[in-house]
Amino acid sequence: MSENALKVLYRLHNNGYQAYLVGGCVRDALLGKDPKDFDVTTDATPEQIKGLFRNCRLIGRRFRLAHIVFGREIIEVATFRGHHENSDKTESKDSKHSDHGQLMRDNVFGSIEEDAQRRDFTINAMYYNIADYSISDFAGGMQAIKNKEIALIGDPETRYREDPVRMLRAVRFAAKLDMHISATSAEPIKRLAPLMANIPPARLFEEILKLLLSGQGLATYKLLTEFHLFEQLFPQLAPLLLQAGSRENQFVEQVLTNTDNRINTGQRVTPAFIFAAFMWYPLEERCQQLMVEGGLNHFDGFNLALNDVMHRQIQRIMIPKRFSSTIREIWQLQNRLPRRYGRRAYQMLEHPKFRAAYDFLLLRGQIEGGQLLELAQWWTDFQEVDDSQRKTMLEELRKQEGGPARRPRRNRKKPKPKA
Ligand code: ATP
Ligand code: MG
Repeated sequence: MSENALKVLYRLHNNGYQAYLVGGCVRDALLGKDPKDFDVTTDATPEQIKGLFRNCRLIGRRFRLAHIVFGREIIEVATFRGHHENSDKTESKDSKHSDHGQLMRDNVFGSIEEDAQRRDFTINAMYYNIADYSISDFAGGMQAIKNKEIALIGDPETRYREDPVRMLRAVRFAAKLDMHISATSAEPIKRLAPLMANIPPARLFEEILKLLLSGQGLATYKLLTEFHLFEQLFPQLAPLLLQAGSRENQFVEQVLTNTDNRINTGQRVTPAFIFAAFMWYPLEERCQQLMVEGGLNHFDGFNLALNDVMHRQIQRIMIPKRFSSTIREIWQLQNRLPRRYGRRAYQMLEHPKFRAAYDFLLLRGQIEGGQLLELAQWWTDFQEVDDSQRKTMLEELRKQEGGPARRPRRNRKKPKPKA
């Protein structure tokens, strides 16, 4: 248990407020997992919370939250949320629904019971009370943990319409916690999956990171596909995955398997690699199309396709610049990796994105075999051998492929003919 979270709980409690740990940290602790972050909820208002902590920042427009900052750890403190239902016929001024039932505004304070009803899944609505060390379970979360069941609180369709991201969360928790989605909570998902189009692309980027970089990316991906959510997120790739066992399927599954392995052994991963992989075959397809139908050469076709595919993807999922530029580099280096003559091979090794591009090539080679695999193998060897062996490798390459012989160095200055 986080010491900082305890400090926050006790400070609130000692000042006469109710204070609970809630959500993921209670759930994970009960499952015997290390909680990732700690959320606190209280009957103190954001202003009252701010009055108690010097290290407090108030954030959020839709619902004001307090962040208590302890160096790198942030404890999030929220005031109990109340009901947002329209009272009789008059729309409550503090809540607003869009045409398809999405909750647009939601900022009413309430009681702890109301707060519990506002949460998404029964396993996420358990409260640990610092006053008497008890757990309040308002929605049957304890039983759901025993049954390994992800179940929405309330009417599933209404709750998904209020916030379609809950469909992604259902899948994420099912995969991450090795549970199943209850029949009633699973039923509406395929039907309502198109509502994902109403979620801002920036929010979806955050969700995608949580979905695919949880260490259970492959399992999550399979559930996303099963529930027709994947096609909402990656509309260009999804149609290429319809044929089970195709190279596209193998590629995607291998990327996720590798990513999961890296995460679970504490290695670094970049979302750019996954995005580059998820758009690679759409890119190749678009490039082919531009060459055949548009009569473009490979260079122009590739660059145009690259922009097209990226542009279409960010309509759904915003990709921050620092990642999109890496994605482009990984793609462009795929065209440069076959060209190894002379100094090019050495320059390639120095490229800041060489490692990512090489890993990407290796993966393509493993799936497609043939020349791609040979090329990847060549680069594997080239990195491992010493300098004189590198020279030999390059010389052999030149002989095999009939490349240009080393040109004798020309004199820089041509001797001027004397007049
Ligand atoms: P994680 O381990 O991924 O952090 P978590 O359950 O803590 O899981 P958070 O996104 O940190 O997830 O949210 C904290 C709590 O806030 C949840 O447990 C849930 O009670 C509530 N919550 C979060 N998102 C929603 C949502 N979209 N709708 C309703 N309640 C939500
Ligand atoms: Mg959390």
